[in-house]
Amino acid sequence: MMEQFWRAKREQPDALLFFRMGDFYELFHADAHIASRELGITLTARSKGEDAIAMAGVPVRSAESYLMRLVQKGFKVAICEQMQDPRFTKGLVDRAIVRVVTAGTITEENALDARQHNFLASLYVAGERCALAWVDLSTGRLLASEFPLARLQDHLSRVQPAELLCSSALLKDAPPAIAEMKHEFGRRLSEREPWHYERESTRRALLKQFKVSSLEGFGIDDDALVILAAGALIQYVEETQKSACHHILRIEIVDDARHLFLDRATRSCLELFRTQRDGRREGTLLDTLDATLTPMGGRLLYEWLLEPLREVTAILERQRAVAEFVDSPFLREDVRSLAASVLDIERLVAKISTGRASPRDLIGLRDSLSVVGPMRAKLEPVYSTRLSDLRTKLDPLDDVVALVRDTLVDDPPLATREGGLIRAGFHPELDELRNIAGDGKARMAAFQADEIGKTGITSLRVGFNSVFGYFIEVPRSQTSKIPAHYTRKQTIKTSERYITSELKEFETKVLHSEELARDLEYKLFEELRVAVSRAIPRILDTARALAQIDVLAALAHRAAEFRYVAPVVQDDDVIEIEEGRHPVVERNLRADPFVPNDSRMNRSDRRITILTGPNMAGKSTYIRQAALIVLMAQIGSFVPARAARIGVVDRIFTRIGSADDIGRNASTFMVEMLEIANILNNAGARSLIVLDEVGRGTSTFDGLALAWALVEHIHDAIGARTIFATHYHQLTELAERLPGVCNLNVAVREWNDEILFLHKIVDGGTDRSYGIHVARLAGVPQTVIDRARSILKTIESDAEDLAPRIVASTKPAAAASSAPRAAQLGLFATEKTALEKALLALDPDRLSPIEALLKLRELRTLL
Ligand code: ATP
Repeated sequence: MMEQFWRAKREQPDALLFFRMGDFYELFHADAHIASRELGITLTARSKGEDAIAMAGVPVRSAESYLMRLVQKGFKVAICEQMQDPRFTKGLVDRAIVRVVTAGTITEENALDARQHNFLASLYVAGERCALAWVDLSTGRLLASEFPLARLQDHLSRVQPAELLCSSALLKDAPPAIAEMKHEFGRRLSEREPWHYERESTRRALLKQFKVSSLEGFGIDDDALVILAAGALIQYVEETQKSACHHILRIEIVDDARHLFLDRATRSCLELFRTQRDGRREGTLLDTLDATLTPMGGRLLYEWLLEPLREVTAILERQRAVAEFVDSPFLREDVRSLAASVLDIERLVAKISTGRASPRDLIGLRDSLSVVGPMRAKLEPVYSTRLSDLRTKLDPLDDVVALVRDTLVDDPPLATREGGLIRAGFHPELDELRNIAGDGKARMAAFQADEIGKTGITSLRVGFNSVFGYFIEVPRSQTSKIPAHYTRKQTIKTSERYITSELKEFETKVLHSEELARDLEYKLFEELRVAVSRAIPRILDTARALAQIDVLAALAHRAAEFRYVAPVVQDDDVIEIEEGRHPVVERNLRADPFVPNDSRMNRSDRRITILTGPNMAGKSTYIRQAALIVLMAQIGSFVPARAARIGVVDRIFTRIGSADDIGRNASTFMVEMLEIANILNNAGARSLIVLDEVGRGTSTFDGLALAWALVEHIHDAIGARTIFATHYHQLTELAERLPGVCNLNVAVREWNDEILFLHKIVDGGTDRSYGIHVARLAGVPQTVIDRARSILKTIESDAEDLAPRIVASTKPAAAASSAPRAAQLGLFATEKTALEKALLALDPDRLSPIEALLKLRELRTLL
């Protein structure tokens, strides 16, 4: 047996081996130690003394939860099953690995979040280019994209793979981006031999998976890098699943050019999926918008938010469908009440495809599909292009529904091998077996009566014992009457015992009828599963259409509920939001109503907005609000505003607040600057940049200087629409110098040394920060507040001329030669330095020689 163990172990050396022994999965040697430590199960030993082998076991019945715990910790588990029934096998039963479960290939519902994909990804790197392919085995979605190595982190963080495959060759002498990835994934990084990424074999794996002769239909050229990443991925899936995955039907190439790109920092700053403070879903945009009713719809909305659109026609197609649902509340509610009873069809299908579906899963599928016909009928009158298209994609799958309905009972057990799943009347042989098992005794009595009738032996009796099974007992006095086909089996004191072939056949049937019935039920169930598998492409197309309908109706539901409007979406540079609201903050305010605000941006006179104002006034809310409204518009949603006009953007960049990234071994300020560098290197004229408090992580002068230079650069060289919230009120000077810069500030009302936040954004800059007011509101002791006030007075009088002095520093950029700037420079260049001021203040006529010498030393110090 240990030989069998080692054979299996050699096949999957990286996995913990769950070795089936009767009612337990046993782990041996090092695996046993790991399992004992990680799961807290007892470590025992097989054999004694020198031959002792460490062993730990988990019961088969509860194995799933142990397995999941190991997989969630990043371990791989290979399940080695008994391939023969020990009852009918002499000696050692055959064993084989039937599945390898890993973080990226786990499909057990309990291990997955219904509203999120669980991706297994595969990376291929060639020089400065990368290809990433990712698949969710629990739904069959397979996607891929190609991008520069420099963008690896952004793509990985977008996909968030539960497990990542890459060639071991890549990890040797890895460039920093790969080293960082290795560190981040730890045990969830699965190293593959380099030959897994060989072009021809990867291509063949894909052709076989999709049953096609060319990948062109998926928009993949023969020399595309994605082939290597995706092919290696499919090979790994086969290796771990040990079965074909019929539900992976196609590969979708993600074309970044068609999407609004959001990098990792932006997703995090805008709190699209997780809050920055505690990483929760509550309080995010996703949570606010997610009124979907099906898990498929939930996952799709997540995807839409992750990758908003960039093409006006595509955006409007979605928006018009949402609008149709907004305008037809009855239709919307009818559709939503039907959707509410739809289960996770994609995940049910995946289980059916990989042979892991239970009878209840098929009933779930039957019930979910029963909704499709009525949904299609409800959508009969729709007129928007997208909804009409989706309606035609809804296949009621009557054949599948009928097949499951006719085969399975309505409330089957969870297990497939215990019987009780097939409907009576579905299969005559099964009905007969059940009858036999059900009334074996009555049958025996009937048989006995029959034999008495045929032989005329009135004292004939049918009996049973465990050695001979059923027999016919005839008193010795009557044995002359027994028919020739009776075979004598045993002689007892007063009678003889016989058997007949009919009796034995009957016996076999009675004894094994239950078992036979169970086996037959399993076989019929398997046949049903295979028959349903054949309909997988149709089922998945329908499920994905249902998901879209669910999301569109959900967005409409929220639009109606939260009073959102349809934005005008155009291919120009104008963003105009009238009375916009922050979609999340407005929902979370308890006492006060949300104060709406306008936003206006374009690429001419309102290219850069400098927003100043006190702490807590609502600056961050306002600037995020603009970004979120643009993003919502570009997923096709309505937006929280009275009216909005959105000139589509190609990327949104945000840098909000500062957060230490200890995991990345970078300081707060370094992280901030890395992100700024990313923005400056990647933003373009069509991007939207939202900056909050940039430069705050360093000294005031450093920070101000950087912020100033940053605005100039964005204005002159990038030209992106930008909102910059800052405490450096000196930056408001820029509006006078650069034609595309304008100032806004958040109004406050001061009253008796108190300040009242009005949350209203008004034109113009501000020259105060009110930080000390906020400190007082927060309960900082009065002595500290008073001292801070007096220090502030001194500093402010010194710093009054800071902005003019920054301006005076000549900027060699091309824009510096523009007319208004030249004028400004001329004006400020006459400003005196401290040394000059000190010199001018001197009156040489009144200085004694010794005073003159002392003054000279002072002037040197000033220099
Ligand atoms: P700081 O400079 O300290 O970061 P801030 O100016 O960025 O502050 P925010 O964080 O945007 O201020 O807002 C502070 C709080 O004010 C919010 O949590 C919210 O409760 C409230 N608030 C902000 N904007 C509005 C608004 N338009 N209407 C009502 N309340 C608002």
